[in-house]
Amino acid sequence: MSSDNTLFRVALPVPLARLFDYRAPEGARADATQIGGRVRVPFGSRELIGVVAEVGPADEAARDLKAALALLDDPPLLQGELLDSLRWLARYVHAPLGEVLATALPAALRQGAPLPETDAIVWHLVSGALEQIKRDGAPRRLAALLDTQPLTEDALDDAMPGWRAAARTLATRGLARSVREAPSHIPAGGRAGHALNDAQRAAADTIAAIDGFGAVLLDGVTGSGKTEVYLDAIAACLARDRQALVLVPEIGLTPQTLARFRARLGVEVHALHSGLNDTARARVWAAAWRGDARVIVGTRSAIFTPLPRAGLIVVDEEHDGSYKQQDGIRYHARDFALVRGKALGVPVVLGSATPSLESLHNALTERYVHVRLPQRAGDARPPTVRVLDVRKRALDAGLSPELIAKLRATVEAGGQALVFRNRRGYAPVLLCHDCGWSAQCTRCETPMTVHGGGRRLQCHHCGARRPAPQACPDCGGLALQPQGVGTERLEERLLELFPEVPVLRVDRGSTRRRDALETMLGELGDRAGILVGTQMLAKGHDLPNLTLVAVVGIDEGLFSADFRASEKLAQLLIQVAGRAGRARKAGEVWLQTHHPTHPLLQTLIAGGYPAFAEAELAEREVAGFPPFAHLALLRAEAKHIDPVMRFLESAKRAFADAGVAGVEVHGPLPAPMPRRAGFQRAQVLVSSPQRRALHAALERAVPLLRETPEGKRLRWSLDVDPVDLY
Ligand code: ADP
Ligand code: ZN
Ligand code: ZN
Repeated sequence: MSSDNTLFRVALPVPLARLFDYRAPEGARADATQIGGRVRVPFGSRELIGVVAEVGPADEAARDLKAALALLDDPPLLQGELLDSLRWLARYVHAPLGEVLATALPAALRQGAPLPETDAIVWHLVSGALEQIKRDGAPRRLAALLDTQPLTEDALDDAMPGWRAAARTLATRGLARSVREAPSHIPAGGRAGHALNDAQRAAADTIAAIDGFGAVLLDGVTGSGKTEVYLDAIAACLARDRQALVLVPEIGLTPQTLARFRARLGVEVHALHSGLNDTARARVWAAAWRGDARVIVGTRSAIFTPLPRAGLIVVDEEHDGSYKQQDGIRYHARDFALVRGKALGVPVVLGSATPSLESLHNALTERYVHVRLPQRAGDARPPTVRVLDVRKRALDAGLSPELIAKLRATVEAGGQALVFRNRRGYAPVLLCHDCGWSAQCTRCETPMTVHGGGRRLQCHHCGARRPAPQACPDCGGLALQPQGVGTERLEERLLELFPEVPVLRVDRGSTRRRDALETMLGELGDRAGILVGTQMLAKGHDLPNLTLVAVVGIDEGLFSADFRASEKLAQLLIQVAGRAGRARKAGEVWLQTHHPTHPLLQTLIAGGYPAFAEAELAEREVAGFPPFAHLALLRAEAKHIDPVMRFLESAKRAFADAGVAGVEVHGPLPAPMPRRAGFQRAQVLVSSPQRRALHAALERAVPLLRETPEGKRLRWSLDVDPVDLY
């Protein structure tokens, strides 16, 4: 066929559920080999980067089509399995393919940058160089490091902060040089790990025995050695010359984790996380695309990594909420991992001490292989749990006298304690004791959190900030007082109570920078001390000297209306508790509550997470919630509520008109947060016991919503399998 009678159907990053036709660029032809390649096209008055989704025959009308400006890839960037899986994802989330592809590609590639070179720069020491450096200092330390083996720049970044200056010194003296080399993926003799215990061995054997696709739920208590099982499976995957992709939660991807992987596997481990700049991110993607990156460890969006030589996908802490994208294309990385694993024909290992009820249900119904690691590995014993009834107790910054005494005993014995409070800031509310006024965010109509020891107010929903008033804006009185306790206030009080030991606060406020937490914990080392923090402390860095975990102020979570609240709270409690006694020292967990007889706490303490999960699954079944029903949430917001309700009413009609049996439509109802950042919000919930029925209804109704005039004038989004109903 000549270029005259074929055309490109291009997926563009615009909110329209269709492809756009273009003639081939001048001098090029449109044929099927270009499917999946990027093109630059004119669009209105702009130029956009899109992806060729189809090629089609051109008819008479095609003469009037605009021509694409340039083809950017040869061969195409998106091919085979990845492109097919992304097409599946677009159908599943009912979003335009162009928007899904734009989400999947690293920013630099989405914007049209060429696929970057991925050769590594390796530093070599000239022979005999070490002897020539007499003085101690950075150059000598670097030389000693390179004397054992040449190292890539990435490896040097990990091994020696500030190595670049030292390298320049060595290079100018002719003692070291850098060479560009294709990244090596031949294992350079990784260090052997622990000999697996029987349960770990059985888990590793189960994974090894899977031929093609298979899903495994590795259900192992904290500290049971799940990571050792992953490492064993990854090593086996490398031995077969295949790629392994490991997903970790946002806060789980620590330098410590990466170092453990590198040391054990003996190959370069490529990290993909939000802290990387666009260039670095695109480089890892490109190295994976070329099949050179053999082990990729990354957070949510790493699930879009091309895996031409796939061998294994691991999703660590599979229950973690950070796997669900909460805006734009609302995909779930764990669920998409299973789709990709199936398409690639490789095993997918989901690991957790507190599996999501969805995964647990799949394991119990034998869709997944269920492998358990019921005990901690090595010498560590499970922590003992004690519930501290604080009804009718005078609390000091939220701490009971018994707990303060226990903290004192712990640090005096040279141990470390963690005080967990899932509330950032100084206090949740600023209240006037004269008239009852409290500081509210005007845009969200919810209380603003007090920060900076009482000086600042911040809205945790929309981010609005302002200084705290000196006097009550309503009555002019001076009786303004912070109510309740956040991590800042706990820190302040603990510093007063325990001036002799370090007190470190760990939350999003104190550790904005990625490595700040590591540095902080590194400086603490094994010394006696107290950590105060939010769920950021629930995982990541291993703290062998941590013997006491104190949980305070979880009572709000016991009475939330969200159907997932119990699951999230149970997971959080077990994960935080799991930080205690990870090494030889026995650990204790103290749970301070006003509701010691609450069924959730009772069940968790008596039977652990499995007992909780069993009871909760039974309740979900009765109530018709996931995993026994499938949900899609249609959210809409605007400055005024009327258009929001009109749009949602028409959506409701569209779902009804779709005429799919077994689909229920609830609403429109105000959102759980009916105002946010100045917008009025409402929602419609669509549910069905049958996933297929739900999607049939969505498939018919959603395209209509994109066309409605109401829908074009407000912000709306569809969330398939919503994780929370906000
Ligand atoms: P998880 O990922 O389940 O939380 P890890 O793999 O991090 O557990 O292991 C917890 C601790 O137990 C680590 O310090 C690890 O070095 C140790 N460990 C794991 N497996 C073994 C084993 N077979 N023998 C001795 N120690 C082990
Ligand atoms: Zn007042
Ligand atoms: Zn707000």
